[in-house]
Amino acid sequence: MKECIICGKPNSHRHHRVFRSECKPLEHCKANLAYLCYEHHQGTQGVHGKHGEELNRKLKLEFQKYLRGIFTEDKYTLEEIEKKLGISTNSSRSLSKLMQLNRGTYDKETIIRACMGGKIYD
Ligand SMILES: [Zn+2]
Ligand SMILES: [Zn+2]
Repeated sequence: MKECIICGKPNSHRHHRVFRSECKPLEHCKANLAYLCYEHHQGTQGVHGKHGEELNRKLKLEFQKYLRGIFTEDKYTLEEIEKKLGISTNSSRSLSKLMQLNRGTYDKETIIRACMGGKIYD
């Protein structure tokens, strides 16, 4: 049963905290998914709605916090990133195109920024 993470309503929709249009490689990353009822997803106050900016930001900040929690070292290899995010090799390859390689590894901030769709939220 997929309950809305805001109000608990059942049969909720799968939402990508960082939209597919913002970071396609995280399409299947479980931590990037959030279940939302119609109202909290497409409604006026919903994350994609006219007044959804605040909720959108909140859900993204939660994901960014999660990323900071799993990427605690200064740098990671692509294989490590793939495992940490629980994504496929193809997805991690696509993600690598959005990150600058620094002597064979990727810096923590580079990884987090790429995962957040190219920006850090504060
Ligand atoms: Zn809801
Ligand atoms: Zn959505």
